[in-house]
Amino acid sequence: MGELDGRVAIVTGCGRERGIGRACALALAREGAAVVVSDVCREFEPNIRLHGVGTWEQLERLAEEIRSDGGKAHAVRCDVTRKDEVEELVAETLRQLGHVDILVNNAGCAVGVGPLPIISEEAWDKTMAVNVKGPFLLTQAAAPHMIARGGGKVIMMSSQAGVRAGARYGAYGASKHALVGLTQVLGAELAPEGIQVNAICPGLVDTDLGFEQYAFLAGMQGSSVDEVRAELLKSIPAGRFETPEDVANVCVFLASSRSDYLVGQALVVTGGYTR
Ligand code: NAD
Repeated sequence: MGELDGRVAIVTGCGRERGIGRACALALAREGAAVVVSDVCREFEPNIRLHGVGTWEQLERLAEEIRSDGGKAHAVRCDVTRKDEVEELVAETLRQLGHVDILVNNAGCAVGVGPLPIISEEAWDKTMAVNVKGPFLLTQAAAPHMIARGGGKVIMMSSQAGVRAGARYGAYGASKHALVGLTQVLGAELAPEGIQVNAICPGLVDTDLGFEQYAFLAGMQGSSVDEVRAELLKSIPAGRFETPEDVANVCVFLASSRSDYLVGQALVVTGGYTR
C-alpha cells in the first residue's frame, strides 16, 4: 500500500535525465500515484542563452520506467507558458486517468541569471513566463477539477533564490520570489476549497540545470566548474550537494495527507546553505 494510492499527479518539466521533476515523478509513482509526466520537448529560441530542455524520447522513457515498475504513467508534451497547451495537458490527464489530485509545478529555467548589464529582455521575459506564468496557468486549469473532487495538492518548485536572492541572481531570483508570493496568494485562496498550495525551495542540486549554472559562473570568473563547486561546497553545512531525491522526498510529503495543515509555505531544503 502506497501513501498516494488512487491519486493522480501531473509533474511538469520532468524530461531531463538528472532532473528534480523526474525524481519527483518516480517518487510519487512509488507511493502509488498515477503520474502524467510532462515537458516542453522543444528547444528554446536561438537568441536565449544556452539552456537544455527535456526531449520527448526522455519523457517517454520515464513513463515506460514507471510502467515497468508496475506504476501508471502517461507522457504528455506541454509548454507551460502556453494556455492552450496547459489546458490540453489537464484535459488529457482527465481523459486518461479520470481526475487530478496533485500538481507539481516543477518546470523552470535559469536563462535570466547574471549581472544586470547582460540580462536581455528576452531572457527576462522567458524566465518570468516559464517560472511564474506557467505555474499560474496550470494551477488555474487544474484547481477547478480538484475542487470538484473535494481538494488536492499544488506544489511549486521555487528555489533558495526565492527566499534569499543576491547579486547576479537576476530574473531568476525575481521569478522564484514571485513564485513564493504566488504560493502565499493561492495557498490562502484555495485552502478553504481543500487544496493545499506550498512551495519547495531547493538549494544547489546536481541536475543538468545546476551544472549549466556552474559552467556559466566558471565562465564569468575565469575558473573551472570544479573550482566553482569546491568553493560553493564550503557554504553547505550538510557537507554535500543536494540530490534530486532530497527534493523528491519533500515533494511526496507535500503531496500526502501528512501535510494537510501546511498552507502557503515555502519549505527551504538546502542542507543549511540558506539559513
Ligand atoms: P532541469 O533542467 O532538469 O529541469 C527543468 C525542466 O523544465 C526541463 O526538463 C525543461 O525541459 C523544462 N522546461 C523548461 N521550459 C519549459 C516550458 N516552457 N514548459 C515545460 N517545461 C519546460 O533542471 P532542475 O534543476 O531539475 O530544475 C527543476 C526545477 O527546480 C526548476 O524549476 C528549477 O528552477 C528548480 N531548482 C533547481 C535547482 C538546482 O540547483 N538544480 C535549485 C533550486 C530550484
